[in-house]
Amino acid sequence: MKEQFQQFKSRVSAALADAEMQENIQSARANYLKAFRKSSGTVANLETIRKRAAFTRWKSIENLDKYLIEFESNFIRKGGKVIWAQDNLEAVSEIIGIINRSGSKLVVKSKTLTSEEIGLDEALLHLGKEWVETDLGQYILQLSDEKPSHMVMPAIHKSAEDISQLFSNKLGIDETHDIGKLVHSASNFIKEKYKTAGVGITGANFLIANPGAISITENEGNAWITSSKPKVHIVIAGIDKIIPNLNDLSHLLPLLSMYGTGQPLTAYNSIISGPKKAVEKDGPEEMYVILIDNGRSKVLDRELERKALYCIRCGSCLYNDPIFRVIGGQAYQSTWMGPIGTAVLPIMDGQKATGFLSELTTLSGADSEGCPVNIPFNKILLNQRKKQTSKSTINSTEKMFFYLWKKAMLKREIINWKNIRSRNFLFKKLFLKSPDNLREMRLPAKVSFNESYRQKFK
Ligand code: SF4
Repeated sequence: MKEQFQQFKSRVSAALADAEMQENIQSARANYLKAFRKSSGTVANLETIRKRAAFTRWKSIENLDKYLIEFESNFIRKGGKVIWAQDNLEAVSEIIGIINRSGSKLVVKSKTLTSEEIGLDEALLHLGKEWVETDLGQYILQLSDEKPSHMVMPAIHKSAEDISQLFSNKLGIDETHDIGKLVHSASNFIKEKYKTAGVGITGANFLIANPGAISITENEGNAWITSSKPKVHIVIAGIDKIIPNLNDLSHLLPLLSMYGTGQPLTAYNSIISGPKKAVEKDGPEEMYVILIDNGRSKVLDRELERKALYCIRCGSCLYNDPIFRVIGGQAYQSTWMGPIGTAVLPIMDGQKATGFLSELTTLSGADSEGCPVNIPFNKILLNQRKKQTSKSTINSTEKMFFYLWKKAMLKREIINWKNIRSRNFLFKKLFLKSPDNLREMRLPAKVSFNESYRQKFK
C-alpha cells in the first residue's frame, strides 16, 4: 500500500541520516565477526554441520503437520496445555485470557520475538496491565518505547552513552559509561519484579516434537527465571519452530549460538517439558504453549519461499546484509527484518502491503553464505522481485524507459559512443542521484574495456 511504502521510506531516510546508529551497528558487527571467526575456527566440520542443520529444518518444515500434532500430544501428556492461534488477534486474546484468569497483577517477559510480532505489548498497555521485560536489551527498548532493531541484539542501535542517559532519566541512576554498572542497576530493578509476578512469558527457540518440550537459549538467565518462578508460564512460538527430536539440538544449538552471537555455546540452554510435577519443588503450576500461524501457512504454501521457514532466527544474515548495515532494523518495524524479512513479509502481509521490500536487496549472495541453514536468499528474493514487477507496480514511464535502455545497450555503436562528455552528461541526467543520498550512478570509464583491449593488442 502506498501509505505503508511512504512510511517505510521516511523511516529509511531517517536511518540514513543517523550516522551514530550506523556506527553502533558497525561496531557490534565488528565484535560479532571477531567472535564468530574465533569460535567457527575451532570447528573442523562446520560445513557438514550446516548441511545437517539445513536437512533437519527441511524435514521439520516439510512434515510440519505431523510434528506439530506429535508435539501437542506429548506436551499435553506431561500436563501442559497447547493453544493454536491462527493470527495475532487470536493469540493476544488467548494470552490476555490466561493472565486475567491467573489474577496476576504483574507479568514478566523474557525476550520473545513472537510476542513483538503479535503486538502483545500494545495490548497489555491498552488493557492497563503491568509487565516488565527481563532481557536487558528488551528492557532498554521498553524504557525507550522502541521496537527491536535486531533479532538477537534488540538494542544494537544504542550506544553505552544512550543507555546511560536513558537509565538516568527513567530509573534515576547516576550516569555512567561503565557497562557493568549499567547492567547491574537494571538487573537489580528486574530482580525485584520477579518476587511478585504471577505470569511469565517466554518464547521458544525450538519446539521439540519428541518428547514434547521447548528449548530456550539465552545468555542472561532471565528466561530461565521467567519460566520457572511465576505460577503460570506462557510460551509464545511460531509453528515453524518445530523440530523432530532432542538429538537435533546437538547441531542446532551450537549453530544458533555461533551464528547468533559468535559464542561456541550460549550460557543457558533450557529444555522445559511441562509444568511442575508433584514431586518437584520449582517450576510453574500451569504451562501453556501458544502455537501461532500468523501468515506462516501462506509461506508454507509456496514451494520455493517455504525454505525461508528453515530460519532459526540467529540474526547472522543481518550482519551480512549491506542494506541492514546502513538502515538498521527499526526501518522495518517488524520482527522479520533484513533479508529474511524481505523474503517472508510480502507473503505474510500481502504483496500490496510490503512487496516493495523486494527492492531491498543487493543479491550479493552474502546473506546465504552466512546463513547456518543455507536459505537460498537470491532465488527467493529474485522471485519476489519478479512478482512485484509483474503486479504492475512499476509505472508505464519507467517500463518504457527500461525498454528503450535495454534496446540501446544492446547496440555496440551506442556503447562505444566516442563523445565521452555528452555520454556522461546523458548518464547524469538519466540516473539522477537518489534523494535519499543512498545511490549515485557511477559514470562509465573514459575508455571502454573494448577500446582499451583494442589499443593494447592492435
Ligand atoms: S535467515 Fe539464516 S542467517 Fe538469517 S536469521 Fe535466519 S537462520 Fe539466521
